[in-house]
Amino acid sequence: MTTLAIEGLEGRHGLLRAFQDISLEIAAGEKIALVGANGAGKTTLLRTLAGVHPTTRGRILLDGVDVTRLPGHRRAALGLTLVPEGRKLFTSMTVEENLRVALAAGRDRVWNFETVLEALPQLKPKLAAMAGTLSGGQQQAVAIGRALMTNPRVLLLDEVSLGLSPLAVQGVYDSLKRLFASGTTIVLVEQDLQRATSVADRIVCMLEGRIVAVGRAGEMSRAEILDHYFGHQARSGTHG
Ligand code: ATP
Repeated sequence: MTTLAIEGLEGRHGLLRAFQDISLEIAAGEKIALVGANGAGKTTLLRTLAGVHPTTRGRILLDGVDVTRLPGHRRAALGLTLVPEGRKLFTSMTVEENLRVALAAGRDRVWNFETVLEALPQLKPKLAAMAGTLSGGQQQAVAIGRALMTNPRVLLLDEVSLGLSPLAVQGVYDSLKRLFASGTTIVLVEQDLQRATSVADRIVCMLEGRIVAVGRAGEMSRAEILDHYFGHQARSGTHG
């Protein structure tokens, strides 16, 4: 069953088309890794899906419901949630306040304050600390926890490892393991191809604002992904 359907989507920055002709059907529980060079349009696409950047053309359907014109908070309430690049925490609020502010109303939710802390135990001793005083890896864990509190059906994760040490990146992915196992539908932007292919079911390669290849993670070689990544330029070992 399709959870997220993207139909002919286009997003712009002024006159510049950040992405165009994006069509993709994402099944319930599927994990998609969106890869591509800097400027390929990945971040703008995730922000557009989340409703924090306007759609200029096309449609976004969540479980068959057209959410294209809904503002971000309405989409989040329906279960479409973004963990933005750069985390965007409330830095002068405590960790606990950052988490509780996102709690979704309703009964029988999988994720609540207690279950989020079980999944992210490193936050327990930090609950009273101002979020801005935490390390990058810890802040990323708060951002993930805050997104989980909304009980997302589709979670959009934008470069969760950006700017973190290798150890902190490992910590963040350890934190995400339970989420990946929980059946939540995930769209993840990840520069590290090794990591992208190890967590995703499908890889979607973007180049200059368009999808240029889609394949099952186990069936696309690194060389093949890099070819799409850089277009027809020579393969390079600089990314991942
Ligand atoms: P990165 O990995 O660097 O984040 P990306 O694949 O996420 O790259 P975007 O950040 O979505 O790509 O950028 C897509 C295009 O839109 C690029 O040409 C970029 O220069 C442009 N762009 C991004 N943000 C803005 C902005 N705020 N104003 C104007 N142009 C922008």
